[in-house]
Amino acid sequence: MSDDKVYISYNYVHKLCQRSAGEIKKFKPDLMVAIGGGGFIPARILRTFLKEPGAKNIPIQAIGLSLYEESVSTSNEENANDEGGLPDAEEAGMEVIRTQWLDFNTLETHALNLIGKNILIVDEVDDTRTTLHYAVSELSKDIKVQAEKLGRSNEVTRFFIFVLHNKDKPKRAKLPEDIMNGRYLAAETVSDIWIAYPWEATDIDLQTKYAVSQGNI
Ligand code: 5GP
Repeated sequence: MSDDKVYISYNYVHKLCQRSAGEIKKFKPDLMVAIGGGGFIPARILRTFLKEPGAKNIPIQAIGLSLYEESVSTSNEENANDEGGLPDAEEAGMEVIRTQWLDFNTLETHALNLIGKNILIVDEVDDTRTTLHYAVSELSKDIKVQAEKLGRSNEVTRFFIFVLHNKDKPKRAKLPEDIMNGRYLAAETVSDIWIAYPWEATDIDLQTKYAVSQGNI
């Protein structure tokens, strides 16, 4: 076992989702956008705890984002921290690659568009915040375009962010104030240490054993 890692069991992920569901329910999410791969399992577990008796399950849409260090430093971190500013993710010194995105045209055809909805974004960890920032800014842009196209620009779309873990460290990108003030929830805040999630384990028995020894069960 490596002491410089935090090991998490599936049980613990389940409990973190369960513990957070009450707070998230207050937001009344219409749908979830899970950021893959780490957000998929938490989103599915969370859905169980968000289900209200007699109501339908909250739909989960998936997006795939991968984060790469940019070869050319743009050193725009100051920009990223402008009050209320929402710079492009690329300006935050990291490049986010979309490996999967929402098909807005299909969603629109099936009357599932995101305009005016309460959207719950789920990921496993908020590290530098670059990925979450990218997800919020790009989804906002696309929804705005759709709303303009459909003459529904007056409808307010709101985001709530849920992560299992937030690392207490300086962030490379900033999320909008209205999200940070009441629509951002990390089940746990941890120091800047590597978190080993169970879905990455090649030996799940060992992973669980380490998690138990650290109390993360
Ligand atoms: P960001 O820096 O954009 O907040 O995080 C980008 C991604 O890096 C996360 O979604 C996650 O996949 C990965 N990541 C960052 N820190 C950790 C960690 O401690 N453990 C694991 N397993 N992945 C991490």
